[in-house]
Amino acid sequence: MRCITPAKTLELERLLDSTGTVSVVVHTHPDGDAAGSGLALCSFLSHFRALDCRLILPDATPSSLDFLTAGAPVLDASVRPDEARRRIEASDLLFLLDLSRLDRSGALEESLRRSPAPKVLIDHHPGPEEGIFSLAFSETECSSTCEVLFYLLLSLKDCDGDAGKLPQACREALLTGLTTDTNNFANSVFPDTLRMVSALLEAGTDRDAILEQLYRKDREERVRAFAWLISERLFITPEGVACIIVDAATRDRLDLRDGETEGLVNIPLQIDRVKLSLLLREEEGQFRVSARSKRGWSARKLAQDSFNGGGHEMAAGGKLRWPEDIASPAEAESYVRRVTARFLHEADAGQP
Ligand code: 5GP
Ligand code: MN
Repeated sequence: MRCITPAKTLELERLLDSTGTVSVVVHTHPDGDAAGSGLALCSFLSHFRALDCRLILPDATPSSLDFLTAGAPVLDASVRPDEARRRIEASDLLFLLDLSRLDRSGALEESLRRSPAPKVLIDHHPGPEEGIFSLAFSETECSSTCEVLFYLLLSLKDCDGDAGKLPQACREALLTGLTTDTNNFANSVFPDTLRMVSALLEAGTDRDAILEQLYRKDREERVRAFAWLISERLFITPEGVACIIVDAATRDRLDLRDGETEGLVNIPLQIDRVKLSLLLREEEGQFRVSARSKRGWSARKLAQDSFNGGGHEMAAGGKLRWPEDIASPAEAESYVRRVTARFLHEADAGQP
């Protein structure tokens, strides 16, 4: 992997050799890649280096990841904000994972900016923030942060290139993040991604057990809610933009819990004429937006231009606020229709 050079690996070894208290911070609404990479790193550092390492989550992970976080050294800053702040202050080394900018760490941003500790970035998003990271391992041509981390860990002296030496919890967390960020191998799969999976399987990692936890333990209400939302709430614009809006009342009526709309945004992309898919869900007085696109259209650009966000080329996110962006939640559909029509007309005009 191009971002991992011998000089940078050596610098990381030097930082690890001179540290005692380490904290790992990931993006808000942590997904499998954020939580998986964070836990994999903590597992590695406590196993090989006996370091005091904690994963600080800006807020909770969805319950589908309980199997990973149960019993792990995790601190949820939305539940214990003071402890999270004190922990960052007490850390002499900080890792930032699965985010490219500190503002993606939510309420932890200020403590992170204030900390004089060296900050190491491990990530796969475009455009890492300048001037903040002492060391950055950032690569966009890969599946996930877990993939960058896997090759970085193998480059350290502890496993000497042998994935079989990684602790089991570390291997499971890495494979979990790779699996969720590729949508179970549907996108962002590169030759090195499959080489990583081969090495993890050869080392005895139980992929079936991970799939069982991730995809075969849904509540019945969730599956029925997906079916209802697709049947009753999905609209597709003449330009080929699919959108589902889940307001707070609908979410409560369907009994959808935190994180349970994960994956819904991908389903409309199965439809031939759909180029882009959006999911808007009302949370804390705004809509959180998920955007996915087929090849040739940029979910990232749409999220950046119209939804105060960003992300990967074909998987991005952001937010839609009122009164800043729309007058009231009821205006969300007309806003989506208007901005996406303009966006696709401009994209079409730009095509050769
Ligand atoms: P999701 O739709 O799964 O929440 O997010 C998809 C991708 O978009 C993730 O890689 C995530 O990091 C990115 N993303 C989600 N929300 C935001 C946001 O508010 N700002 C930026 N810059 N990226 C986001
Ligand atoms: Mn990721």
